[in-house]
Amino acid sequence: MANESLSTRFDLHTHSTFSDGTTSPEQIAELAKNIGLKGFALTDHDTIDGWVTARYAAKVKGLDFLPGMELTTEEAGRSIHLLAYGTSESDERLLEELFLLRNSRLNRAKEMISRLNEDFPLDWDLVLEPEDGVYIKSVGRPHLADALVNAGYFSTRSEVFEKILTTTSRYYVPTKHLGTIEAINVVRNAGGFPVLAHPAAFRMRKPIDHSLIAELVSSGLGGIELDHPENRPEWIPNLVTTATKHGLLVTGASDFHGAGKPNKLGEGSTAAADVALIRSQVATPN
Ligand code: AMP
Ligand code: FE
Ligand code: FE
Ligand code: ZN
Repeated sequence: MANESLSTRFDLHTHSTFSDGTTSPEQIAELAKNIGLKGFALTDHDTIDGWVTARYAAKVKGLDFLPGMELTTEEAGRSIHLLAYGTSESDERLLEELFLLRNSRLNRAKEMISRLNEDFPLDWDLVLEPEDGVYIKSVGRPHLADALVNAGYFSTRSEVFEKILTTTSRYYVPTKHLGTIEAINVVRNAGGFPVLAHPAAFRMRKPIDHSLIAELVSSGLGGIELDHPENRPEWIPNLVTTATKHGLLVTGASDFHGAGKPNKLGEGSTAAADVALIRSQVATPN
């Protein structure tokens, strides 16, 4: 199963059970080893809690690990996902923002659950508080979707999203977001390297405009994720031009969510030399 061509490459965007992935960091490391990747980044939503486990699991498998996270942000009326690599683990401002984001996620999940429960009764308490009484680290719509699948209302996470969990659905409740520029500042101040995630995703009506990218670059954006399975291929050439113009590092990754999405680990990837470039600029390089 090992793929020779991946032996010098990293998958820089993965989600684990610390947020909305269905596989643990250990399972991601095992899979990364099996497909022959050199290394991977863990980029759970709004949390760095999976780093310790992922770092150790990578070491056991002889893989390189790059710590990261994904922040949902908003700028000029657009929802923009920002990947942040190598931030300090003790930066107070960043840690406080992450705490507030996760807390908002929890309150939002409770509100969505009370709306969903009217039409889809199930033991929702179990969703937020698993057996050991510990809250999910970073709860999102995917956890609600999985509960609906487990109760037999739908057959897959994606089906639930398409039918009842879009942002226009009556069950949808927004959660706290940072402004994109604000997030870039917080990440840079914490010694991190910010990368614009999937800027040409299928779900967008149009790609992120070039003037907005220019503004993000002047605020400290360092890279742009162009090799991503959900990017529209026809929007990529223009974005490559913009990336070159601004000296942005071009990354690739799968956005693996285990069974939660069709994206396969290693489906997008980044060269080791580019990962080295990121590492040379961050507070927590591995
Ligand atoms: P939230 O951050 O809680 O609003 O949920 C958004 C997350 O749901 C994204 O980060 C994706 O991982 C996931 N997601 C969005 N659309 C879909 C879909 N169609 N199928 C599966 N997962 C999705
Ligand atoms: Fe996700
Ligand atoms: Fe994303
Ligand atoms: Zn993601």
